[in-house]
Amino acid sequence: MSRNVNLSAPTTVLIVGAGPSGLAAAAELALHNIDCVIVEPRPTVSHRRPRAKTTNVRTMEHLRRWGVAEQVRKTAPLPVAWSQRVTFCDALSGHRITDFDGVFGLIAWKIAAVAHGWAGQALLASYETERRSVVEQTVATAESNMRSLVGDLAADATAIQTAKHAEFHSLGLVLGYSYAGSPVIQPTGATTARGDSTSCTPSIEPGARLPHAWLTDGSSLYDHLGPGFTLLGPAHRAPAAVRDLEEAARRQGVPLTVLDAPASYRWRDTFLLIRPDQHIAWRAETPSDIDLELVTGRPPADVAT
Ligand SMILES: Cc1cc2nc3c(=O)[nH]c(=O)nc-3n(C[C@H](O)[C@H](O)[C@H](O)COP(=O)(O)OP(=O)(O)OC[C@H]3O[C@@H](n4cnc5c(N)ncnc54)[C@H](O)[C@@H]3O)c2cc1C
Repeated sequence: MSRNVNLSAPTTVLIVGAGPSGLAAAAELALHNIDCVIVEPRPTVSHRRPRAKTTNVRTMEHLRRWGVAEQVRKTAPLPVAWSQRVTFCDALSGHRITDFDGVFGLIAWKIAAVAHGWAGQALLASYETERRSVVEQTVATAESNMRSLVGDLAADATAIQTAKHAEFHSLGLVLGYSYAGSPVIQPTGATTARGDSTSCTPSIEPGARLPHAWLTDGSSLYDHLGPGFTLLGPAHRAPAAVRDLEEAARRQGVPLTVLDAPASYRWRDTFLLIRPDQHIAWRAETPSDIDLELVTGRPPADVAT
């Protein structure tokens, strides 16, 4: 779809390139009511340019938040269930095939927060700290995967599965990374470390991605998170402390949703402050311990009263 845009009109954010990064940034900004303009020289999709044959689970989580996951499923040329029995061919190239700099949808909520005035520049600067090791691990894993090409492997199913194990089991890479050690994550002494790329153990350590759960009504826990920060935990047990945090957030203009943890949720007894990107900013016994200035990248003196 194309739209005529008045390029001399001011815009809050200019996005250069309508690839997945640019479109993800635009979708995330729209979610936060920030206008943007995307410039893209290619008017049509070309089959000669990079395209995704597979979409990983973390990408689907974002597509669900943006309300387009179902559309993507419907337009898939193969039924989603078939992905369980796909055989991949990787004999195209032994070289790194693409360079990328993270998923820009992941910085868009930070741009929106600064544009709305409730976050400081340190939140923007944290993007590189948080994403660098993820990108490095992704590129290193991709390069490692491409070292054993189909043509070099013995025609033996077990040997091929062993050699290709890391390539086809990458949950640690797409779900298991952490932003621990980021200046806008609760300090715990932990630093971002490269973990095992093949497996992921759900964790509520600050910096980790909130462990997902399907709820008894069939919805996703993520469906109930707010567009800004979400306080998840036993809210009914600490109403006064929850109210104080809500009041502090209101004073500072920080959008905060309070979600009483579902009874079925394994970590229901701990208060977790969840960011818009579903990562845990703070873990606490009581909401009174949460530092809103730190997680929004503002010096304490910067708080409006
Ligand atoms: C063969 C191949 C297979 C792949 N398969 C998968 C897969 O199955 N799953 C998956 O998730 N990923 C896959 N990838 C990777 C995926 O395609 C890239 O990670 C993704 O396209 C990167 O998105 P991007 O938006 O950063 O860059 P791009 O997709 O390259 O988009 C950049 C955009 O910017 C535009 N642009 C460039 N210069 C300018 C300019 N000066 N002004 C304005 N616009 C400009 C370009 O026209 C382009 O539309 C594959 C890549 C390749 C090469």
